[in-house]
Amino acid sequence: QKEVVVIGGGLAGCEASWQLANRGIKVRLFEMRPVKNTEAHHTDKLSELVCSNSLKSDSLENAVGLLKAEMRMLKSLIIEAADNNKVPAGGALAVDREKFSEEITNKIYNHPNIELIREEVTEIPIDSFVIVATGPLTSKNLTDNISKLTKAENLYFYDAAAPIVTYESINMEKAFKGSRYNKGDADYINCPMNEEEYERFYEELIKAEVHPLKNFEKQIVFEACMPIEVMAKRGKETLLYGPLKPVGLENPITKEKYHAVVQLRQDNKEGTLYNIVGFQTNLKWGEQKRVFSLIPALENAEFVRYGVMHRNTYIDSPKVLKPTYQLKEYKNIMFAGQITGVEGYVESAASGLVAGINMSRILLDKEPIIFPLETALGSLSNYISDGSISDFQPMHINFGIMPKLEHKVKNKKERNRLKSERSLKVLQKFIKDNKILVD
Ligand code: FAD
Repeated sequence: QKEVVVIGGGLAGCEASWQLANRGIKVRLFEMRPVKNTEAHHTDKLSELVCSNSLKSDSLENAVGLLKAEMRMLKSLIIEAADNNKVPAGGALAVDREKFSEEITNKIYNHPNIELIREEVTEIPIDSFVIVATGPLTSKNLTDNISKLTKAENLYFYDAAAPIVTYESINMEKAFKGSRYNKGDADYINCPMNEEEYERFYEELIKAEVHPLKNFEKQIVFEACMPIEVMAKRGKETLLYGPLKPVGLENPITKEKYHAVVQLRQDNKEGTLYNIVGFQTNLKWGEQKRVFSLIPALENAEFVRYGVMHRNTYIDSPKVLKPTYQLKEYKNIMFAGQITGVEGYVESAASGLVAGINMSRILLDKEPIIFPLETALGSLSNYISDGSISDFQPMHINFGIMPKLEHKVKNKKERNRLKSERSLKVLQKFIKDNKILVD
């Protein structure tokens, strides 16, 4: 009987194993905990949630809600366990984290096609069928091996990402396009502030609540990069000589000069997403929304990704992965989960689901499949394998990376809901046409 080695018993690894095992494929699942721990896991359970207990919105007006709906159609282990162990959290799918992990651990442990091995893998067995799903905190030995395999100089680094907002939520009446000293094209969106607006923003920024840093994260702040709130605390003027520098950025029409200017840089090919330049931050997510919305042009900004700071190991997927999650160079080896540059619990599990389905197809002599772009699953795998992206950054699922509707819909909620409806319809047909589900 054919066999697959899955490395990592987290969200992606468990989902991939489940999809394989239910299609009659034998799985050897390697999980290093509790023999060896990561910096953020606390238990020996599979699919432990390392931080929040929320799998975010369950609404079809939200892209992660759509992603979950798609995963339910494909009989996801992770979403089923979340549904079975949900706790009240408004419109979000939050879970009792212990019961959630316990259910997944038991199901994996008791599946006749899965053998769970508690051992650190230090080298990818390149002659086997393998799914690597070792997450953002992949052990050092294996990271070194992955570096060699993917020909990457350095996979370790500390993620200090700035938030990303949607273009359509930027108030362009309060912003202008242009580059500093008019060098280059009008690449940036500039969000100006007068002295009073800057003062208000500054005062709120320095007293905003931050995430408590774990020991291993403390060194990040001092060695690798500087969060905007740390820089601000050095003095009121510091930001005006750093990321909020106004020089060379006058309004092209009114010629007005400003006290401070925040720049936004395009973040995807389609120009639907922009990141806030230099705003890497450790502020709590609610605080990011509250404080950064004080920038007049961002007063109604929709944040598709908040700034984060933690170790994050991920491969340069657009260079090395296909949208099937296979390595371009070794078609028998796949990557799944956060290590591919998808960001978040649900996204990690989703990529494990697709990798599991595709690996089973390969072993059953069928072509691996690429999910349609209209689906959240398809957009996510397209994003991580889009060769036109040069500075690849991890990404949450969001409607900005999905194709536009054929007709314009002004109301955002309505537009999102219509995109979700389109996706679920397309997916239903795709599942049927490709006989993806097993009894
Ligand atoms: P994991 O769930 O981390 O699973 C990987 C597994 O592989 C682990 O069990 C690990 O022990 C094992 N492993 C590693 N190396 C080896 C090896 N060599 N051999 C065998 N096993 C190995 N996302 C959210 O949506 N919400 C959050 O609140 C959130 N908070 C986060 C906080 C931190 C500190 C970090 C690092 C990430 C956070 N994320 C969060 C991002 C991401 O969603 C999670 O990391 C998620 O668990 C990723 O799923 P995964 O399956 O890719 O990796």
